[in-house]
Amino acid sequence: MLPPDPPGQRLDPARVDLKGMEEAALAAFCGELGEPPYRGRQLFAWIYGRGEWDFERMSDLSKELRLRLAEGARVGALAPERVEEAPDGTRKFGWKLAGGARVESVKIPMPRAEGPPRWALCLSTQAGCAMGCAFCLTGMMGLVRNLSAGEIAEQFLAARRALGPEERFHNVVFMGMGEPLDNFEPSAAAARILIHPRAGGVSARRLTVSTVGVASRLAEFARAVPGVGLAVSLHAADEAVRARLVPISRKWGLEALLRACRELPLPERRRVTFEYVLLQGVNDAPGAARRLAALLRGIRCKVNLLPWNPFPGAPFERPSPGRVEAFRRELVRAGLTATVRQSKGLPIRAACGQLADDERLAERPRKAVSPAPA
Ligand code: SAH
Ligand code: SF4
Repeated sequence: MLPPDPPGQRLDPARVDLKGMEEAALAAFCGELGEPPYRGRQLFAWIYGRGEWDFERMSDLSKELRLRLAEGARVGALAPERVEEAPDGTRKFGWKLAGGARVESVKIPMPRAEGPPRWALCLSTQAGCAMGCAFCLTGMMGLVRNLSAGEIAEQFLAARRALGPEERFHNVVFMGMGEPLDNFEPSAAAARILIHPRAGGVSARRLTVSTVGVASRLAEFARAVPGVGLAVSLHAADEAVRARLVPISRKWGLEALLRACRELPLPERRRVTFEYVLLQGVNDAPGAARRLAALLRGIRCKVNLLPWNPFPGAPFERPSPGRVEAFRRELVRAGLTATVRQSKGLPIRAACGQLADDERLAERPRKAVSPAPA
């Protein structure tokens, strides 16, 4: 059974796309059709709880309503244009969206001693990204376009359709292509749909949204999606190094960013995650770890270290496992919780920062990037 509008190319502008609408919007839509608001609740459960797109199969709606919905509305769905699997079990889905933009999602196996397999799912919020971080392949694409809430949520629903009966997504992260806070409302709406018990059903504490550090909107996002996990991409404890790696830090410097993190309305016992890409000779010295620990003092947080995932033409190198571990130990010695993210899916270019649309990349002249000094 395939969704009615695979790779998003048969968009019918005359039919309203319900995918992406939250419960209140669906109730309002039903109201316009002269239907009681609880119909919105039913539609919400069908579209996101069951992942249904065919009104005909929504058996608790009247025959007449189903016909009217089929005439005036649609439930946008995605079918993968491409699926690749790495030897470690990581699977990368390539989606082609309406208008031709391409994005990717990654399904990652989580280690588990026994029981049915558990998976993590990494979603994209934009096709490409405008932020241009020096070490990220997605950044090289520039921004193609923002995704709608429906397109973000549907990456989850479509990947869920392909799961076995006992399988589920244990963790969901917005760490694929794009900067979620640069596409704020759709990312927030999709996140709310994913954590709603009658929709995606993912527990809020198992949904993590990663941001490059748009300090001005961090707290607003935490309020817009109550309980969501936040990960902030820090990558340097020195303003000058960070400015070279993450251009937006010229606007939101370390001080403003860390102040915003301190003021986050975090639920009890929740911590903010700081991500730190380790680039050999740039930001991976033990002294940098000590400066990082000093900078984070007093913030309820943990640090997730990401040894840089390579792609051709980038002026960086991945530090050796020994150097990564030495950096981690330095943080632990200073009292921080620090983990190293395993790079899954490297052979199919599915690891962090490796997602990109090759056609788009080929069209763009490669910007010269000079490595930051150590
Ligand atoms: N735009 C958001 C979320 C997407 S990137 C952000 O920047 O946080 C998700 C994570 O992957 C970020 O921490 C980012 O810095 C990291 N990343 C990007 N390129 C990488 C690479 N080549 N190797 C390792 N991590 C990378
Ligand atoms: Fe965009 Fe995040 Fe990549 Fe930076 S690291 S270019 S913000 S996707």
